[in-house]
Amino acid sequence: RYRIQCTITIPRYVRVNTLKVSVKEVIGYFAREDFTQVTTSSARFMETVSSLKPRHFFQDPHIPELLVFAAGTDLHDHTYYKTGLIILQDKASCIPAFALQPPPGSHVVDCCAAPGNKTTHLAAIMQNQGRVIAFDRDMKRFSTMNTLIIRAGASCIRSELKDFLKVDPNAHKDVRYLLVDPSCSGSGDFCIVGRLDDFIESEGGKQEKSRLEKLSNFQAQILKHALAFPNAERVVYSTCSIHEQENESVVRDVLSQVEEDFELEELLPNFQHRGEGSFSEAAKCVRMSAEIDATHGFFVACFVRRKERKPKEG
Ligand code: SAM
Repeated sequence: RYRIQCTITIPRYVRVNTLKVSVKEVIGYFAREDFTQVTTSSARFMETVSSLKPRHFFQDPHIPELLVFAAGTDLHDHTYYKTGLIILQDKASCIPAFALQPPPGSHVVDCCAAPGNKTTHLAAIMQNQGRVIAFDRDMKRFSTMNTLIIRAGASCIRSELKDFLKVDPNAHKDVRYLLVDPSCSGSGDFCIVGRLDDFIESEGGKQEKSRLEKLSNFQAQILKHALAFPNAERVVYSTCSIHEQENESVVRDVLSQVEEDFELEELLPNFQHRGEGSFSEAAKCVRMSAEIDATHGFFVACFVRRKERKPKEG
């Protein structure tokens, strides 16, 4: 087999739902339950994660509403989780909403939203002021999202069971922020083991190649549709894939089609782990991995509208 479930231990990440409670209050609650808070810094992050003892936790140095507990800490039955005070969400999956940073009062579209962890994170960043329209076309996932939205108390979200590609961008002239987190191979949950060259030549490799091609075409289509919103100012694209084909290559191909109006922002310059491969602007994107960041594999890029249109070349 060319891939196996990743065995590197990833800590238990807990996003505080700031719509219901403050980070300080949650830290206080855990302290009363005999959990011990430790300190860290972004430079010491990996060291702190690897030496984290059971019932110890710290506040994430990058995302202030995120707490980091030892791997294996099970909080699924905890009242804070059941009542929506905390959301169990991997750090990498918190980056897209954190990178989009829609201010309170803004109008946002979450293009492929279910089950809605990033959608409720957006609502929290916006302090429930403004509007997030959350589209998804899958009935089951859509219904899970509605449950999670209610549990989170995210009243600024309006969910719609709809194919995002059928949404008319011109009917949403007030939308300035869009989050594009389309279906992907999910390869960020796996580590590559064995010889990749051998795998690519195998029957399984050929199937995987054709699957990735279909996925990247679909991802580019969704991203282009988001960038067609007439007043889009900021569009974040993310996947939980480690494949360049679904990440940097999608961004490069779409950017080449919209570069008169959009450019890539150098996303989160404090993050050391950058995009990879031959795309000349890959370093403006962020990657995350178990080995380097103690998260699942992830990729994020941010398109911003140019202040002035770039003249066509040639
Ligand atoms: N952003 C979500 C979160 O953080 O919880 C995860 C999104 S998941 C990676 C991708 C989602 O895209 C799936 O729920 C899938 O049903 C949805 N999807 C795929 N194609 C779509 C389309 N054309 N329109 C709307 N949703 C779509």
